[in-house]
Amino acid sequence: MINKIKTLAANLHEEIRTVRRHIHQNPELSFHEFNTQQFIWNQLDDAGIMDKQKIAETGIVATIQGKNPKKQVVALRGDMDALPILEANDVPYKSLNTGVMHACGHDVHTSCLLGAAKIINLLRDDFEGTVKLIFQPGEEKLPGGASVMIKEGVLKNPEVNQIIGQHVMPLLPVGTVGFRKGLYMASTDEIYMTIRGKGGHGAQPHQNIDPVVVMAQVITALQQVVSRVASPIIPSVLSFGKIIANGATNIIPNEVYLEGTFRTLDEDWRAKAHISIVKIAKGISESLGCECDIEIRKGYPFLMNDPQLTQNAKDNAIAYLGKENVIDLDIWMAAEDFSYFSQELPACFYRLGTRNEAKNITSHVHTPTFDIDEDALPIGMGLMAWLALAELNRLPF
Ligand SMILES: [Zn+2]
Ligand SMILES: [Zn+2]
Repeated sequence: MINKIKTLAANLHEEIRTVRRHIHQNPELSFHEFNTQQFIWNQLDDAGIMDKQKIAETGIVATIQGKNPKKQVVALRGDMDALPILEANDVPYKSLNTGVMHACGHDVHTSCLLGAAKIINLLRDDFEGTVKLIFQPGEEKLPGGASVMIKEGVLKNPEVNQIIGQHVMPLLPVGTVGFRKGLYMASTDEIYMTIRGKGGHGAQPHQNIDPVVVMAQVITALQQVVSRVASPIIPSVLSFGKIIANGATNIIPNEVYLEGTFRTLDEDWRAKAHISIVKIAKGISESLGCECDIEIRKGYPFLMNDPQLTQNAKDNAIAYLGKENVIDLDIWMAAEDFSYFSQELPACFYRLGTRNEAKNITSHVHTPTFDIDEDALPIGMGLMAWLALAELNRLPF
């Protein structure tokens, strides 16, 4: 089976590269993936994959049945949205949609999932069960396309037993993939805070209430949430990336505005941390005569890779790529809405290496120079197909 898949993936390399370049050149923002959706729909039609429907407005869910289709259902997920970034790469497939760019590799995920679908469709006689293909919109934007799709029943009819997702990783060399069992990615919450005092002349601080100094104290005190309040064995991050105190050298402003992010890997602690952040910010502000408005917007939950499914997937990846090409990953404090799937059923989210220093392909995701070594495409589509089919054939009837 591995050799069959590798041959099919090699044969599809050029076609899927063209697909990837088309999607890369025509990126669409989260929840606006209408053209991408139609493009993939037509591609599935051309491949004879007719059992499919549109879902979550700009998503697609398709199924391919093997023998004994009711045995088990394994889902493969690829996300389709791009980011509001102006592409800086000078390549023939540069974005034609100025200011929008596939800078997180979702063009790669979509095209690899399409390639996997084509491979699986040609191997219908070689596996038992059903593969569900989830082309997901809106990963980059709250509330996350995954949560919308789940609400609209993407995991039902037929009910999905396990789900596998793939994401590019420019830290890993092309030819390699990475896995991590258990806790893998963080929950993410956005913090918005305004501290109000009383502005006035910088020379008369005693007649004003300076919100700049109060905000400085709040930021410093909030460091204790991670350093003193958090359990040392639970990873936590609290970072502030935006602060606006729009006074001048001699003007104390009325208010100071702050934005930041809180990330962790434990739901109980996440809830407690929110309470602690609000209490510290309000307590310090009020004790110094200011008012504090604070909003914490909940983002995606943490991502948990099912230990058994992930071990199986890793073993299967070793069989496909060789032990030296399968890497153990560390916890990654970014967030992914694949986490919503991981809360519903056994899930495995793994990484596809796309880096190639010899070709100067080293930029991180979410940067204007992000790109991939396209030699990752046959690996990405072949491995996805193999992981799904190997898992289905392993499962008892
Ligand atoms: Zn991203
Ligand atoms: Zn992404």
